[in-house]
Amino acid sequence: MTARIIDGKTIAADLRGKITDAVHRLRRDRGIVPGLAVVLVGGNAASEVYVRNKSKAVAEAGMHPLDLHLPDSVSAAELLQQIARLNADPAVNGILVQLPLPAHIDARKVIATVDPAKDVDGFHPLNVGRLASGLPGLVPCTPMGCVMLAQAVHPVLAGLEAVVIGRSNIVGKPVAQLLLAENATVTIAHSKTQDLPSVCRRADLLIAAIGRPEMVRGDWIKPGATVIDVGINRIPREGGKSRIVGDVAYAEAAKVAGAITPVPGGVGPMTIACLLLNTLRAACAQNGLPVPVS
Ligand code: NAP
Repeated sequence: MTARIIDGKTIAADLRGKITDAVHRLRRDRGIVPGLAVVLVGGNAASEVYVRNKSKAVAEAGMHPLDLHLPDSVSAAELLQQIARLNADPAVNGILVQLPLPAHIDARKVIATVDPAKDVDGFHPLNVGRLASGLPGLVPCTPMGCVMLAQAVHPVLAGLEAVVIGRSNIVGKPVAQLLLAENATVTIAHSKTQDLPSVCRRADLLIAAIGRPEMVRGDWIKPGATVIDVGINRIPREGGKSRIVGDVAYAEAAKVAGAITPVPGGVGPMTIACLLLNTLRAACAQNGLPVPVS
């Protein structure tokens, strides 16, 4: 069997097109331009690239990007003050604080300071609780993208046996909650799980969010299963260069799976598209309008 490739780039581009159209209508009919503030603290090179890409995507969707770059030395009090200012600014509909933060700043406190209505990362405890309780709220972007990719193969996820490897607050736990909300039967595996290959072989839908290059092997996969690879791992290549691989051994897995996301070009593009969707959703909710893209 050769797996169908789930083309995250195309699915994300389609979603971004719908969001751009909706933003255009919002501006034309209501004079509203959704604004996203991205807060970056310090000079982490990878974070700078992420932030640049996010701001570019925001502008391409016709939204208003607002980058706030603070020095490594910024105090926790000053950062919290800046977030309070963004919370109060009606032109800012979404606030994203790029993680990781410098060690002297408590990320949990920062996340809890963001207005839950503007929490486009979906990390605020109130939004986490809403997701766990099945209430509407802002949902983390990468997990939302994973579920959309799974739905590209299985429009109905109800009854599927889903295994999520990883239990982080950013990916593993929220993706499991979303799958549960779709009535999948969900197992969350982690570093203490016994006989992980056997657990994975049960899965009709396998989501790998581990951060270990190519850990999931071909013989861990049930023939015909759908595999969503969240991992982004940079590994060295000959000549001092490097390349990006996922958490799944792609070449092996693609011979067994029914469908699989590539890395890069799978989950990554969906994360940005879902960030735009959350910003649009937040702007509509703050203006008492229905969400124009579902
Ligand atoms: P994380 O916070 O480090 O969590 C990793 C999870 O994997 C933990 O729950 C850990 O278990 C589990 N794990 C680690 N080693 C394991 C093993 N040997 N067997 C079973 N489980 C194991 O990572 P994350 O933030 O969730 O990110 C996961 C991956 O997704 C990373 O590669 C990251 O770069 C990528 N990512 C991609 C995107 C995107 O947009 N595509 C977004 C976010 C993250 P314990 O809890 O027991 O330690």
